Amino acid sequence: QQKRQGKGRVGYFTETLRIQLQREFNLRDQLITAIEKEELRLVYQPIVNAKTGKPDAFEALLRWNSAFGPIAPDQFIPIAEQYGQIKSIGLWVLEQACQQAKTFQLISPNLTMCVNVSVAQFQDEDFIEQISAIFQKHDFDPSSLNIEITESFFASDKQGLMQKIKALQEMGVQISIDDFGTGYSSLSSMQDMGVDIVKIDKSFVDSIQGSGLSIITAVLLIAKELNYQVVAEGIETEEQANVLRDLNVTYLQGYYFSRPIESEQALEYLEAL
Ligand code: C2E
Ligand code: MG
Ligand code: MG
Ligand code: MG
Repeated sequence: QQKRQGKGRVGYFTETLRIQLQREFNLRDQLITAIEKEELRLVYQPIVNAKTGKPDAFEALLRWNSAFGPIAPDQFIPIAEQYGQIKSIGLWVLEQACQQAKTFQLISPNLTMCVNVSVAQFQDEDFIEQISAIFQKHDFDPSSLNIEITESFFASDKQGLMQKIKALQEMGVQISIDDFGTGYSSLSSMQDMGVDIVKIDKSFVDSIQGSGLSIITAVLLIAKELNYQVVAEGIETEEQANVLRDLNVTYLQGYYFSRPIESEQALEYLEAL
């Protein structure tokens, strides 16, 4: 009896794994042609200045309208990372975002564009060269670009990573640490990162009525000491926004202010300011 159950379970897991792998391979195959089929696009979420209530930046977020229907970045980015497509997709994202930023800047000249970059793309030896090429091609001011990386970047080759961050900053590019507090780095390692902006993860905003508050307060203290700007992510309620404003968080981002929107909507939004 028990043996049969055990066997059944093995069979079940094997079947699940097979389906999962099949799904992964299908997505991978579809991803290869996603750019040329024009299935990818960027949407833009405002990052609001707490003082003015107006957006100082937009974060570009990738969307994939696949043959299977819309698939979320949390689903397909890991696959693109695993199967080596993230470099070409990431470059496409950077170029699109820079081009779009220039259009936004016709209305709001000081607007910054924030772009998420995967570790595999960032570590690519050609990354800086590729980014410079995009800046030149579109006559783009590097200081209008903000690259978002995560703490997990620092897990390997910390030295090389910090050199690259420095090189980008010397060009004028800003660097943010995304999802801050969810990785393995300690508060003290904030010092080594040498970034410009720390994005406090949504989970701490979610729990701001409880344990999140002390963590956010600690991050703010250290950020001030190190001269980092702070963005709070994932703000969904007025209460959260008010607490964060009272804490003097400079930048606020979340559904409460705006969901990620299409480029046309973003333009209208800027024009209406
Ligand atoms: P992220 O960079 O931390 O982006 C924030 C995510 O939270 C986005 O999900 C955004 O839509 C969502 N969000 C923003 N405000 C709220 C809120 O108030 N409530 C809730 N529940 N969610 C909110 P999205 O667009 O699904 O992206 C998920 C992740 O995928 C991103 O997390 C980022 O790590 C990655 N990603 C997205 N676009 C790109 C890209 O172009 N390149 C790379 N490498 N990664 C990307
Ligand atoms: Mg981000
Ligand atoms: Mg984040
Ligand atoms: Mg995230």
